[in-house]
Amino acid sequence: MQHSLKAVAPSSLDWAPGSWRSRTALQQPTYNDAEELNRALEQLGQLPPLVTSWEILALKQRIAEAQDGERFLLQGGDCAESFADCNSPIISNRLKVLLQMSLVLVHGLKKPVLRVGRFAGQYAKPRSADSETRDGVTLPAFRGDLVNSPEFTPEARRADPNRLIKAHARSAMTMNFVRALIDGGFADLHHPEYWDLAWVEHSPLAAEYRRMVASIGDSLRFMETLAGQSISSYSRVDFYTSHEALLLHYEEALTRQVPRQDGWFNLSTHFPWIGMRTAALDGAHTEYFRGIRNPIAVKVGPTVQADDLLRLIDVLNPNEEPGRLTLIHRMGNDKIGTHLQPLLEAVKREGRRVLWVADPMHGNTESTTNGYKTRRFANIAGELDQAFDIHAAAGTRLGGVHLELTGEDVTECLGGARDLVEGDLDRAYRSMVDPRLNYEQSLEMAMLIVRKSGG
Ligand code: PEP
Ligand code: MN
Repeated sequence: MQHSLKAVAPSSLDWAPGSWRSRTALQQPTYNDAEELNRALEQLGQLPPLVTSWEILALKQRIAEAQDGERFLLQGGDCAESFADCNSPIISNRLKVLLQMSLVLVHGLKKPVLRVGRFAGQYAKPRSADSETRDGVTLPAFRGDLVNSPEFTPEARRADPNRLIKAHARSAMTMNFVRALIDGGFADLHHPEYWDLAWVEHSPLAAEYRRMVASIGDSLRFMETLAGQSISSYSRVDFYTSHEALLLHYEEALTRQVPRQDGWFNLSTHFPWIGMRTAALDGAHTEYFRGIRNPIAVKVGPTVQADDLLRLIDVLNPNEEPGRLTLIHRMGNDKIGTHLQPLLEAVKREGRRVLWVADPMHGNTESTTNGYKTRRFANIAGELDQAFDIHAAAGTRLGGVHLELTGEDVTECLGGARDLVEGDLDRAYRSMVDPRLNYEQSLEMAMLIVRKSGG
């Protein structure tokens, strides 16, 4: 099939960065001072962007390659970043885990890994209820640091427009630090020891990881001996950013036209996605996303019907542009067996070009008796394991994973190499929203992917 490479110019789509405002926008905060909101948005609109259109188009090309099976996408980070966690150890530890996982994947899958962080803008959260009641007092729900603060007081829960400016600044600081680390040689494949995390020396997985690192070092030295010089492409890796583009006022203010490029780009991130709760065909988020030129993703949950998914693909990628659309399925370990296959078949039958990615986290959230939101490693691994098999049976390709993880020694998900049990959750449960894989559980997940792919 011949596909057009050119995106449709937004003018011919009857679209504008603010055209979403005429649709129903779910999961938005209520700002009670419109003037204050407008002042903040005006200021945000003047601030420099966080990424460039060149980077965005380079990523789109790489996603197109992942669609062709030439790359594997690793997307991961916190469920929600917080302003308080915008600091050196948290950012660099998260980067270390992602680099170690990608090393395991490169080694095992024998193909380049496309690294996308769930950071530098992941500050807004969809919630199941708009408000929360405690002891007879009802306050607005916490919607992420982009909107309000988690403490249960009226001041903390007020939607504060100045947080839009703060989130932009924190995102810029995060980006700046990540870029400086990578440009400065932190991600150099010759020095995987830079990514060691102090507290994992005694991990049950450490030996297997070290064997892989040694083997990669050997191959690298062998290739460099053949080439007669050090191979500079191994000295650096690319890192891209992503977040759920939930709060449309924020996204609109960072949507810009770029000289010498057609169309509009969301320059707050390389790779925004639409969350499961806001992916309605006629909703404001779909309207916003259809007009930007970024590569985009959509979370696909167990209630999505094949026909609706095809219509959404029509709206978001009418011209079958390579690299444009990624579908992230998040079904749950108990549902993926029945719900995924019809979607894969429909998309394949219609010959639609997408990158299929598995998020084995969000369909597997549960509460413990003592009130913690958790996920069982066995269910996360089980969903991912099934995802590979279901794609193989359907003749489609699982081209990536989307994970919630951290480089910190947290105890938020049960099971894994150290077999965390409910009593362990108390020890280091730090997430304000969803439970994340800790370092060991993340690395184990990367090893599982390699085993499933026959590596
Ligand atoms: C998330 O990624 O944190 C999230 C809320 O996911 P979903 O939209 O798939 O529920
Ligand atoms: Mn989450």
